[in-house]
Amino acid sequence: MTDIGVMRTDFEKDPSIKIRKVEMIPLHIPFATPFQIATARESSRDFLEVLILRLHTDQGIVGIGETQAWRRQGSAELLANLMHSIKTRFEPLLIGRSPFDINAIMYDLNATLYNSLYAQAAIGDALYDLVGKSLNVPVHALLGGKCRDRVRVGAVLSMKPNVEELVEAAQAFHDRGFRHFGLKIGIDSAADLRNAQALREAFGEDIVLRVDANAMMNFDAAVTLLRKLEPFDIDVAEQPIAIWDVDGLAALARAVAMPIMADESVSTDHSLLDIIRQRAATVVQTKTAKNGGIHYIRRLWHLAEAAGMRIYPGNHPSTSVATSAVAQMCAASPTPVMEGVFAVGVSGALADDIVENPIRPVDGEVPVPDGPGLGVTLDEEKLAKYRVEF
Ligand SMILES: [Mg+2]
Repeated sequence: MTDIGVMRTDFEKDPSIKIRKVEMIPLHIPFATPFQIATARESSRDFLEVLILRLHTDQGIVGIGETQAWRRQGSAELLANLMHSIKTRFEPLLIGRSPFDINAIMYDLNATLYNSLYAQAAIGDALYDLVGKSLNVPVHALLGGKCRDRVRVGAVLSMKPNVEELVEAAQAFHDRGFRHFGLKIGIDSAADLRNAQALREAFGEDIVLRVDANAMMNFDAAVTLLRKLEPFDIDVAEQPIAIWDVDGLAALARAVAMPIMADESVSTDHSLLDIIRQRAATVVQTKTAKNGGIHYIRRLWHLAEAAGMRIYPGNHPSTSVATSAVAQMCAASPTPVMEGVFAVGVSGALADDIVENPIRPVDGEVPVPDGPGLGVTLDEEKLAKYRVEF
């Protein structure tokens, strides 16, 4: 801790901007239609649990960040847990600090509550937003500069009661310019095959098709299903088996022809290193909440790129705040990123958004926000409408 102590001393001599208050806004935002994936318990969800964080400063500038209480994919977070962690452990480490000390602050947060990435995500991204606003530059400028103005995104095809409704949902995305589809699989293999076949028949070579079992299949079922799916030209199979079974993912990667993506199995940089060492996947998905926001996700991207992996920018369903955070990172990436599903909330999964200038995919692409910081402004009326109390 000696080095960090030196940094703090330097900071204390700096009279510039300081964080004065940490404000948390828990929200329940309705899904447009109940959101269904392969999962052990809940059949579907009616609303998304979002935590918006506002960092207030002595100069009146306010930074915003987002995380979600998702409770799938290895997370056990509740909104109340996230708020308790931030209030009791993180707030004392934030008050009086300069938002420019992102590295030192994030180091301290992780040191006080190791691996609390869901809670840290909102803080780290709010710090980036604050620094951007303080300098009057977008976050992508802080990340090394903009390499692209628009980022192509993929569509998530949530499970539907029948193949007709699935193709209808895909057609609606296709009409809006989406060409990359993530098909949820993993509950009923016969239905999964019918769905993949129907999508290929409906769209031919015009779409890129990916499948996602959300870690819910056993190894044998995954091998059998993925082999049967091979004729449908699947670009990548996302997290077919359990989060903890990296050995199994590695064996699966050798047993089937299609590439494997690790999502749930990757939280920290250590978990990604494990995937890389075992060559358990050749694609990695990152998410704002799951992976701790911009500060940590950039590290994952560097590791993945060095390992020759493809990067799939994702998010749990989220508002325009977390969508912007990922769009900013994609914009600053000089090498290609995949057409990820980081805009899954703003692409239509959510019934509403909470900013005055929502990010809306146009022709299947998200325009990179160019305003200061994350470039999105919270809508106070929407916050009041969806706010919940604890
Ligand atoms: Mg996934």
